[in-house]
Amino acid sequence: MNTVTLLADPEAIRLDCIHPSLETITLVVQTAAARPMCPRCQRRSSRAHSRCVRRVADLPWHGVSVKLELHMRRFRCQNSLCTQRIFCERLPRVVAHYARKTVRLNAALELIGFAVGGEAGARLARELGLTVSPDTLLRRLRQASQKESTTPSVIGVDDFAFRRGRRYGTLLVDLERRLPIDLLPDREASTLSAWLSAHPGIKIVTRDRSKTYACGITEGNSSTAQVADRWHLLKNLREALEKLLKRQLQQKRYRSEQRSWASIAEETEANSYLERSRVRLLPHLLPGKSQRRSNSIRPPPLKLP
Ligand SMILES: [Zn+2]
Repeated sequence: MNTVTLLADPEAIRLDCIHPSLETITLVVQTAAARPMCPRCQRRSSRAHSRCVRRVADLPWHGVSVKLELHMRRFRCQNSLCTQRIFCERLPRVVAHYARKTVRLNAALELIGFAVGGEAGARLARELGLTVSPDTLLRRLRQASQKESTTPSVIGVDDFAFRRGRRYGTLLVDLERRLPIDLLPDREASTLSAWLSAHPGIKIVTRDRSKTYACGITEGNSSTAQVADRWHLLKNLREALEKLLKRQLQQKRYRSEQRSWASIAEETEANSYLERSRVRLLPHLLPGKSQRRSNSIRPPPLKLP
């Protein structure tokens, strides 16, 4: 069960005393292992050589910084075949060799760095009582990424521009951890093929519609499944919708123009009919002829346009 304890590893270290001050709390800690292990040959030794003191930063208490004063021992390796004659005992769950921060403090800084980045992470850490610079935070992120770099099973492949229109590279992303894992100097099929050959175990590769990447993936590992990535699927959908809407808009505009021309033609035909009617009836409207034909049937009054 993962329980939170005052000390990082109670089985490996023992708290002797606490020295509080206004700005710092110092925990004086002794190592507890009776026969530590040689880091080179993994043999245990009981021959103490000397003592040393390490001071490392630990997680703060309510914003007050905490220092561990580690009183450690050096031992002689009792394996005559080992090249390591003297070694300092290790505390892998407390602090790494030569590190200045405890493992759990570094883990907290990594979490902050991954969540909000370098500058913002340093500001947030300062508010929480953790003193760290943005550069240190970014360095911790890079080290964490390298430490956890194992061959992924699902990756994404896409190109990026070193200089738009001139030179392009290839970005490889671990889609399960959502982290970039490598950059290739170009976007050639042979380069991608060589990378995949050097990293067996990849099961699925998502890519764009590029035939170059398709060839590279097939050459590198023919058993790898290739799928179109979500961004390019949405891009395809958007382009298809744009074409459909553009075509329908053109058809609607064409039909509207056809109706306009038809109404103009009907109006012209009506005007022409009225003109012909007026010419035909004009003699009947003249005064002399109207009197002579007063007894005949009179045409109805004509409304001229
Ligand atoms: Zn040894």
